Amino acid sequence: MTVFNFDNRFVRELPGDPESGPRRREVVGALWSSVMPTPVAAPQLIAHSPEVAALLGFTAPLLQAPEFAQVFGGNALYAGMQPWAANYGGHQFGQWAGQLGDGRAISLGELVADSGRWELQLKGAGRTPYSRGADGRAVLRSSLREFLCSEAMHHLGVPTTRALSLVASGESVVRDMFYDGNPVAEPGAVVCRVAPSFIRFGSFELPASRGETALLRQLADFCIDRDFPQLGAAGPSRYADWFAQVCRSTALMVAHWMRVGFVHGVMNTDNMSILGLTVDYGPYGWVDNYDPDWTPNTTDAQGRRYRFGTQPQVAHWNLVRLAQALSPLFGGSEPLQAGLDQFQAVYAQAERDTVVAKLGLGDWREGDAALMATLQALMQEGEMDMTLAFRALDGFDPQHPAVELLAPAFYNDERRAAVAGRLHEWLQRYAGRLQDDLLPAAARMAKMRLANPLYVPRNYLAQEAIDRAGQGDYAGISELLEVMRHPYDEQPGREHFAQRRPDWARDRAGCSMLSCSS
Ligand code: AMP
Ligand code: MG
Repeated sequence: MTVFNFDNRFVRELPGDPESGPRRREVVGALWSSVMPTPVAAPQLIAHSPEVAALLGFTAPLLQAPEFAQVFGGNALYAGMQPWAANYGGHQFGQWAGQLGDGRAISLGELVADSGRWELQLKGAGRTPYSRGADGRAVLRSSLREFLCSEAMHHLGVPTTRALSLVASGESVVRDMFYDGNPVAEPGAVVCRVAPSFIRFGSFELPASRGETALLRQLADFCIDRDFPQLGAAGPSRYADWFAQVCRSTALMVAHWMRVGFVHGVMNTDNMSILGLTVDYGPYGWVDNYDPDWTPNTTDAQGRRYRFGTQPQVAHWNLVRLAQALSPLFGGSEPLQAGLDQFQAVYAQAERDTVVAKLGLGDWREGDAALMATLQALMQEGEMDMTLAFRALDGFDPQHPAVELLAPAFYNDERRAAVAGRLHEWLQRYAGRLQDDLLPAAARMAKMRLANPLYVPRNYLAQEAIDRAGQGDYAGISELLEVMRHPYDEQPGREHFAQRRPDWARDRAGCSMLSCSS
């Protein structure tokens, strides 16, 4: 029998629901409910992350054992696992939504490994008290997207929850992808997510909304103690220090999203991690042609609340919701306001760092923000691929500012012609800025290559892997994962993965349009 060191502090130290099992209910005065994963017909491991396996101390024989797919498909437990679903609320699309909770996520336990404490959580493992009439399952396309993107984000240097495994359930799941009355049976799958904590902003909002101040305080104390050990022993400013830390890490997370062109798609407060990790990969997307107004989420197509360019403001709005929830723990609003101010300061600094890194500058100067803003405006008007345009700039020769350098980034000849003159002017301006810069050319290129990825898991690349998986060919998942393990490095022979979105993918479901149905 496989023996691991599980130390399930969340369920040991925090109050739980006296009832167990998946019966739908309001759960008051408790932060979790005991619930077993619902077994699936034929679990089959179709992909795993070697890095996450190593973090957890999972060896090759363990990964290859039939028991592994049983455990991570939801049919068996390792000794020490103690499954639960967490209770939380949230603001969805700007409205308070009340109790939400883990409707299809079930945590198996907190594994204490050499690398630290890791909560292992299945997504798509069946009904819980929080499923609200839904089936608790996930389709292969969405689990595959979550698996791939979590790992890709990690390798891109973006704070994120991780993914250990992707297990096909051998069962089908019925989904109406565009809520248009066309339900289809699709293959199901379970992903195992891994993070030091899955506590969300909404975890605090729910007890606060119910006036359960003692419970709120208990959760805050627990969270600080378990998830923020760097804050040290209790002191008068402990809550304030903690909230400020949450604000800072949230700012850094979003700054990374903006750097790499990631759009979360559903920044509801129940999808905001207290650790500032990207969590809950649903209808997320990657910016192809640069467009701050783009959202991949068809469910949000009207209001576009969660479009690419508004993500920093939404993160701040969400932190204000968290501050309101935490206010009973504070004597006044000043410390909370100070934390929110830190969000603004840290984000502003991170944004400057992004400009400096993406343009390969030796230092920050007055005028650099405008230099970047002009480039972005031209990228938008000229319909240029964000990833390819920034990546091409690292080959820029200030002695010969030529627009041809950016040719691979254009989607459309007309748009290219429309901006060519102004882009040439911009390149001359950039050349002037670089001539005035202290960073030597080689160092500039090296710096840019660490900030401007060559490979991102473009929506259409994930869709290609999904289409192949639908035919029973899972090799596309490992191939894409392999590429994404080194997103900043040239990988000869893998040019296919570093190209503009092809025309077929422009308006195709799964590539530019995604819904919450998953
Ligand atoms: P999301 O938009 O994925 O963050 O989901 C919002 C809420 O709906 C969360 O409480 C989820 O657990 C729940 N939910 C989403 N899909 C399902 C499903 N298929 N079964 C049960 N609950 C779900
Ligand atoms: Mg969620």
